[in-house]
Amino acid sequence: MEQTKLTHLGRKPKDFQGIVNTPVCYTSTILFPDLKSYRGAEKVYKSTADDALPALSYGRYGTPSSFSLQDALSELEGGDHSIVTCSGQAAIATVLFSFLKPGDHLLIVDSVYGPTRRLCDQEIAGIGVQVEYYDPLIGAGIENLIKPNTKLIYMESPGSLSFEIQDVPSIVAAAKKHNIPTAMDNSWSTPLLFRTFDHGVDVSIHSATKYINGHSDIIMGVITTTKKHYHSIYNCFRNYGFAASPGDCFLVLRGLRSLAQRLRQQQENALKLATWLKSRKEVVKILHPAFSDCPGHEFWKRDYKGSSGLFAVILDKAYSEEALARMFDNFRLLGMGFSWGGYESLAIPFDPSTIRTATKWPHQGSSIRISVGLEDYEDIRQDIEDGLNRLAMMNN
Ligand SMILES: *Cc1c(COP(=O)(O)O)cnc(C)c1O
Repeated sequence: MEQTKLTHLGRKPKDFQGIVNTPVCYTSTILFPDLKSYRGAEKVYKSTADDALPALSYGRYGTPSSFSLQDALSELEGGDHSIVTCSGQAAIATVLFSFLKPGDHLLIVDSVYGPTRRLCDQEIAGIGVQVEYYDPLIGAGIENLIKPNTKLIYMESPGSLSFEIQDVPSIVAAAKKHNIPTAMDNSWSTPLLFRTFDHGVDVSIHSATKYINGHSDIIMGVITTTKKHYHSIYNCFRNYGFAASPGDCFLVLRGLRSLAQRLRQQQENALKLATWLKSRKEVVKILHPAFSDCPGHEFWKRDYKGSSGLFAVILDKAYSEEALARMFDNFRLLGMGFSWGGYESLAIPFDPSTIRTATKWPHQGSSIRISVGLEDYEDIRQDIEDGLNRLAMMNN
């Protein structure tokens, strides 16, 4: 079903002389054939936050390339409309600024993506919004934090770096009881592994830079939402001008075709690798939602359709920078870089202990985040085994 969708979504050959993929339509200007159509486009410009709609009227408001990709993504995710943005960060900013005004209160998860946190602490708090972080495992307890001025509850599951799975249905239930909209960064799962709208979330956000594109060559974001919230979010998007390039939309739609196959391979590689890593003496904990000792694993089991290729490993002690360099500097396959979800494997050290405010990071050992790629499993495993052996050499 999903494979078939991924194969056929977002194609409009009838509109393009039979061309199988929507061509890249680079344009700033749309020429109107007569004054009447020009006046029609003017009306779209002048629409309000309650009825703002995209139209082929100016490059920043969308092109056939972005419309095709948006159609594909909204159908895949099960929402009413999608908006593609120039980055995942722009998608997050659009959602936050569309719901929050000075004097409002935001509840946002403590394990949120680092740059989202900086956006909240600096720009969102900067306009006079009260930003409050909550424990990723809070579940139904979120109700105790809701205030009369709470205007948005923001989730990200699993947590960035720390992989806690949130009890989304309980949080959504509390939010609905108080008529508060919910948004969720669903990048780790893609639309395939966690069904945001089936779980009552109002706004789903992805960094399409990661699995959706999957080829490590594009920065893009996507917001998918329901009819109810679409116009005001779209209005905020057009006010900020966060448009995605037509060429990038073409490439992301191309990457999307193989999402299911890539994820399947990455899931399998990651599960095998995490299982093998667990048997190593240097490893004390695996933070992978499919593993029973991952915080919130029971919610993953209940709500998710699988796991992707990004997880973390906690080592038995805090290794010296020299020991870590011996490992990281000499991987043959694993690259060291921000980002994840591409076709190639990556590994980075991380330490969330100084970032959090609502919860305490419980681990003392060095931590490594691994984004498993599409290489043959045995080759990645060997690269990591050699790395761990270098790490564990004397003079740690
Ligand atoms: C990378 C990332 C983002 C930001 O996406 P960009 O496309 O890099 O702007 C947002 N959320 C999560 C969880 C991410 O990993």
